[in-house]
Amino acid sequence: RGRRVIALVTGANRGIGHEVARQLAAAGHTVYVTARSAEAARAAAEDVGPNARPLRLDVTSPADIDAAARDLTALDVLINNAAITYDTWQRATTADLDVVREAAETNLYGPWRLTQALLPLLRASTHPRIVNVSSEAASLASMGGGTPAYSATKTALNALTRMLAAELRADGVLVNAVCPGWVATDMGGPGGRPVEEGAASVVWAATLPDDGPTGGFFRDGAPIPW
Ligand code: NDP
Repeated sequence: RGRRVIALVTGANRGIGHEVARQLAAAGHTVYVTARSAEAARAAAEDVGPNARPLRLDVTSPADIDAAARDLTALDVLINNAAITYDTWQRATTADLDVVREAAETNLYGPWRLTQALLPLLRASTHPRIVNVSSEAASLASMGGGTPAYSATKTALNALTRMLAAELRADGVLVNAVCPGWVATDMGGPGGRPVEEGAASVVWAATLPDDGPTGGFFRDGAPIPW
């Protein structure tokens, strides 16, 4: 029987984040089911079930992040899942940099600020984990053209993952980036794999044993190239 943890998932009202929250709660963990509006968080938490706790959290809002850091009393697992702007319509050569900047607010600065704010709680945990939900589109090893806002901000999130892992190694915080694969959600569109499989890829990193990896990039529990 595994250890029960307290987890927080950003963007848990739909898509992969919602399914991650559902899987963690179903396994007996307590989950802060967060969403940009209180109403969306409440509805999502109700759907996830009795182990869910709703929390309003727009990751671009420093006030929301401060409130979360103030209100939470314990946290073991932070899952930075919320993201925007899979910009297949743009090319790096002509990209609208306002779109890139806006994507960075959600995909990079949001997780960065939230992680900083919740670090005291994570450091106080005996089994702290941070999962940054990334994408193969962030991989420099396979970087082609296209999705410039998305790819650049997710590559930066990967860099953050490496830095946090190094800085938090001594504290026992396992920090990893995870690609869920191509998943059939609003972002992924039709044709991707079921959301249960994408979410399981994330849950794996959220529930690593104490001797598990840190500073890695994984899909379905296997390393993928940076
Ligand atoms: P969706 O677009 O289906 O869901 C995105 C979620 O993020 C929504 O809950 C959305 O809330 C939330 N969100 C957006 N902006 C904010 C914000 N400022 N604060 C809080 N929440 C916010 O995406 P997916 O479920 O497909 O993606 C989840 C993660 O998986 C992302 O990090 C994505 O990059 C990654 N990923 C997805 C792939 C796929 O094929 N689907 C492939 C590779 C990676 P709201 O409803 O309010 O908009």
